[in-house]
Amino acid sequence: MTDTNRTNFIRQIIDADLACGKHQSVCTRFPPEPNGYLHIGHAKSIVLNFGIAEDYGGVCNLRFDDTNPHKENVEFVESIKTDVRWLGYDWGERLYFASDYFEQLYGFAVELIQKDLAYVCDLSAEETRARRGTLTEPGQDSPYRNRSVEENLDLFRRMRAGEFPDGSRTLRAKIDMAAPNINLRDPVLYRIRHGVIHHQTGNAWCLYPTYDYTHPISDALEGITHSLCTLEFEDHRPLYDWCVHNVSVPSKPRQIEFSRLNLEYTVMSKRLLTQLVEEGIVAGWDDPRMPTIAGLRRRGFTPGAVREFCERIGVTKADNLVEMGMLESAIRDDLDRNAPRAMAVLQPLKVVLTNLPDDAPAQITAQNHPKREDMGTRALPFGAELYIDRQDFAEDPPKGFKRLVPGGEVRLRNAYVIRCDEVLKDDAGTVTELRCSVDPKTLGRNPEGRKVKGVIHWVSATHGVAATVRLYDRLFSVPQPGGAGRDFRADLNPASLRTLTDCVLEPALAAAPPGTRYQFEREGYFVVDADGTPEALVFNRTVTLRDTWGKRQAGGA
Ligand code: ATP
Ligand code: MG
Repeated sequence: MTDTNRTNFIRQIIDADLACGKHQSVCTRFPPEPNGYLHIGHAKSIVLNFGIAEDYGGVCNLRFDDTNPHKENVEFVESIKTDVRWLGYDWGERLYFASDYFEQLYGFAVELIQKDLAYVCDLSAEETRARRGTLTEPGQDSPYRNRSVEENLDLFRRMRAGEFPDGSRTLRAKIDMAAPNINLRDPVLYRIRHGVIHHQTGNAWCLYPTYDYTHPISDALEGITHSLCTLEFEDHRPLYDWCVHNVSVPSKPRQIEFSRLNLEYTVMSKRLLTQLVEEGIVAGWDDPRMPTIAGLRRRGFTPGAVREFCERIGVTKADNLVEMGMLESAIRDDLDRNAPRAMAVLQPLKVVLTNLPDDAPAQITAQNHPKREDMGTRALPFGAELYIDRQDFAEDPPKGFKRLVPGGEVRLRNAYVIRCDEVLKDDAGTVTELRCSVDPKTLGRNPEGRKVKGVIHWVSATHGVAATVRLYDRLFSVPQPGGAGRDFRADLNPASLRTLTDCVLEPALAAAPPGTRYQFEREGYFVVDADGTPEALVFNRTVTLRDTWGKRQAGGA
């Protein structure tokens, strides 16, 4: 973990609160709304909240903030649990739903009415908005603001009982219509919503509390000490404080805001992510191009790399746009250390070795990782018929081309130096096969005086297994999709997915279960996808070896 996070401003506040005895222990929470899948921005919040709890010997609650039933569902609840667990965090027994508190929240609203701090308002949503005022002008009091406590209690009870239609009445806090902070201008606390089936409470309620009212009270009921949220809630903090100070909750949590994660070449708003899924622009919430946790998992990311990325970006109050390269480098670092190497030919070109000696090995032993002996070795079947990648051969080589050319030599990785003697073509002039001869002295070593610049990978044509390989790239072709008022869909990268269907892999890969990650030598990092079978493997590219963004676009076959 980096030092920035060890000493971020939130930790400094917590240190001070513990030092002065304000708190004896720390309790945080991660409060997703189950209206979509979690994304990498949520991961920042998860790592922060669970990480702080871990480091201070405290606890972190998982709380579903489920006050908007028409957009929420159980699929989202379950996916969120899966993703938090996958990231490596455990909420133990502390799984909560804001809807668990509906009865208590109702009771606190009654308390506010009794204290003359809330009233039932009959203005429509539109009328309420029209009287709110602006940043420079105060709002106007609602004509219902001075209802008696008795009348308010009666109407509120009847709102709950279902006597009034949607939109006909709200419960509003009685704060100050002239407050400079618009959030304090008698904000709505409860709305009427008939006919929605809540995923937790069913049809028990037709009255739903707003987020701004629910969140602080839920925090207080759970004994949250530090309620960490993103900067857009800064202006809501006075209302947060007003709520916890005016009802008789058992604790007074403190809200602290930090800047949200924005990432280049992607979108993070759940509204836009939902649109991508619903319009079929991507294959689902777990499409490997999505910035969702499920998408990153399917793309081949490890939980450790996602956590490491979150640590590296740190936590501040400054708005920021993080480069995609930072996320890519976190996974590259992890896979470089931990992914076994494998040989995979993505665009096969047949090579026939015309003079293979009788004593040539039928198998060649290769190390699974160049720097890690603990990862062992494996046998690569070898023979006279091989595949190499089309991109490793050029009839008219560009300047500086170090791979195979007619009459030229190259080393087959872990095997012989070969020379290209003959190029076979079909009627259309497409190269179909290379006839090559081996230098028998060069098996696994480079005799003195021999200069061979290129080393290329290969797979035995008789033993290789077929695979489909999906090359994923950034979903958008500009750093800030939808910028300058454009429709974000206009910025989609048309080449974000390229599917290669004739790839040939070394046979050991056929046994790998979905989720297994490899470095395909010279190609990048890849993961086995669940869409495949041992007979018809499917691999997804997680990330290229270096930042070769665009290379495949430019040089594709
Ligand atoms: P929406 O996109 O619909 O506005 P949201 O992204 O805020 O919603 P929530 O489910 O409310 O989604 O988020 C749960 C928690 O994750 C909140 O505390 C929120 O502040 C945090 N969070 C969401 N997006 C980011 C982000 N990009 N960076 C850091 N934290 C985030
Ligand atoms: Mg939110």
